[in-house]
Amino acid sequence: MERVIIIGSGPAGLTAAIYAARANLSPLVLGGAQTGGQLMITSDVENYPGFPDGVLGPELMALFRAQAERFGARIEDVDVTKVDFLRKPLRVWTDDDVYESETVIAATGASSLWLGLPSETRLLGHGVSSCATCDGAFFKDKDIIVVGGGDSAMEEATFLTRFGKTVTIVHRRETLRASKIMRHRASNHPKISFVWNAVVEEILGERHVTGVRLRNVLTGVTEERPCDAVFVAIGHRPNTEIFAGQLHLDAHGYIATPHAANTKTNIDGVFAAGDVVDSHYRQAITAAGLGCRAAMDAERHLEAVETGSLAAGS
Ligand code: NAP
Repeated sequence: MERVIIIGSGPAGLTAAIYAARANLSPLVLGGAQTGGQLMITSDVENYPGFPDGVLGPELMALFRAQAERFGARIEDVDVTKVDFLRKPLRVWTDDDVYESETVIAATGASSLWLGLPSETRLLGHGVSSCATCDGAFFKDKDIIVVGGGDSAMEEATFLTRFGKTVTIVHRRETLRASKIMRHRASNHPKISFVWNAVVEEILGERHVTGVRLRNVLTGVTEERPCDAVFVAIGHRPNTEIFAGQLHLDAHGYIATPHAANTKTNIDGVFAAGDVVDSHYRQAITAAGLGCRAAMDAERHLEAVETGSLAAGS
């Protein structure tokens, strides 16, 4: 029987692991086959406090992990396939094992959204990507398209200027959603240009990307534009499939933690933290903060159960 199982190994999961480990709870982190969360596919992180010169996302996550392990967190890079939170003890399955635990912290994060075009799926890894850090270097001196108008799109586009000859941001409106600083950085970059009020209707190419067909959403006019790569940066969805029917989710599929003062879910002993509960801030630092709170909430819960101060079923 585990005292704390943490599902997820991004900033929220690993911060929870650091706190739970330092509280002598020897947490088990089931961190996912793609360990480290979204920062593993992020380039420079310039806004994580303590790194005045910035830090690479994967480097930051390696530091989180080393810190959690130093205090005794056990981290397994495996996917959780199923949970049963409807009876005690709480149970969590992976492909090979089933674990029982007194508490669980759900920190499964969020995943990239895609346009949903068959050509996008077919050409994924052949010019279509959602990760500039992973794939940008393949497109040296090439023409690159980035889809989206938020901070992610601006960040990806700015990063891709290191490699590409041109970077064109295609946005479905004529106003960017991105924050002022990111907008400013992209708009003033000599390699970056914008196509407004346009959506990608088709990604062209047989074996690799050769272009896109764009449709102007105001006029309906389509145009084909040659390019070598399409980076899709249109947002994320929370990774909550394994919790469906057990944890209450909000209208957008994020885990509901209805008490502002803590990270409790609707299930006694189950807490949630990070991008899986947060559709708004979605920063590494806010995820880490929530992870800290979830570990402290789990610790208090265990104490309350031990001292008998927790009413049965509460
Ligand atoms: P986002 O803010 O939700 O922006 C998504 C963008 O994609 C929007 O411009 C949206 O258009 C567009 N879009 C959505 N679905 C589309 C579709 N099917 N076809 C074409 N365009 C589509 O997502 P995000 O940029 O990933 O950012 C998420 C959060 O993370 C934000 O809070 C952001 O501030 C934060 N973030 C911060 C940083 C940073 O500070 N370094 C970096 C990345 C992300 P509309 O505008 O028309 O809705």
